Amino acid sequence: MRGKRELLARVCSRAGLTRLLETMPQRRALIVLNYHRVGNADDTPFDSGVFSASAEQFESQMAYLKSRFHVATLEEVFAMMGGDAPRGTSVLVTFDDGYLDNYTLAFPILRKHGVQAVFFLPTAFIGTGKLPWWDMIAYIIKQSVKESIHLEYPESAIFDLRSDGARRVSMQVLRLFTNPAVKDAERFISELEKECEVLRPKGVAERCFLDWDEARDMQKNGMAFGSHTHSHEILTKLSPELQREEVRCSREILERELNRRVDILAYPVGLKHCFSADTVSALEQTGYRAAFSFYGGSNRPGEIQPFDIRRYGVADQSYARFRLQTAWEAVTGTRWF
Ligand SMILES: [Zn+2]
Repeated sequence: MRGKRELLARVCSRAGLTRLLETMPQRRALIVLNYHRVGNADDTPFDSGVFSASAEQFESQMAYLKSRFHVATLEEVFAMMGGDAPRGTSVLVTFDDGYLDNYTLAFPILRKHGVQAVFFLPTAFIGTGKLPWWDMIAYIIKQSVKESIHLEYPESAIFDLRSDGARRVSMQVLRLFTNPAVKDAERFISELEKECEVLRPKGVAERCFLDWDEARDMQKNGMAFGSHTHSHEILTKLSPELQREEVRCSREILERELNRRVDILAYPVGLKHCFSADTVSALEQTGYRAAFSFYGGSNRPGEIQPFDIRRYGVADQSYARFRLQTAWEAVTGTRWF
């Protein structure tokens, strides 16, 4: 499917259709783009699936956004929530998870192009050598020499490492892990270790995430921050009390470290089943004003759902595809397919 989309984007670009789309009137809308890591996905022993763009791709995407859209700041998004929006389509750039490459690679590019991005940080990982579950799971699978992996929890499932390769199997296993039936994360990861005959990495040689000095440097230079919970648990897997504790504690740490009000959050994973009415009331009770989801779509000013601001991800795509996707969304308000 990805190959087909890339091909179609190239055809549209060559035939001048993307150019034509760019001359059509844009809807008054807010597109929120979401990135995770920037850099080379082939070089990591961890999850390659969280790489959104290489540094070169990211640079050309920021230059494109600046040339065609109103690139919004967080303050402007708050104004749009009240219905006050500029003409045409505005784009907000966001990052989840707070990887170190956000500082070393993305931040200089954002500054160069005068783009403010919003970084959503899982506070338990910032300034630590901890590894999150997706990187741990991908690491165990990438190190395994088994031909296939047979998991029993939460349901019986077989993954074919020999024919599908570690990268694809990692994606399949990660999808299974986010299934609401997985209530016991530790059990899932221990069974995976046993089945792959690989132990999770004990200590990481390199720090993967931002530290607070880096976050403060980014803030000083115009970047904005929000919470991505404390420990990046999928909130709907937690009791209402634990959900409240996750978002309260994360907000408290962010405000203490950044010395600024922080009242926005991006739901971990962000699909529809990853937040609920309990999650929204936890956010309201702990003083948040908005939260961002991650299942696609754009937002109409004045109709923005404050606890379900729609975002879609940028995932390792060519310039032609990025251009077509954003231009199409700006004109039609739908995914181009
Ligand atoms: Zn995340």
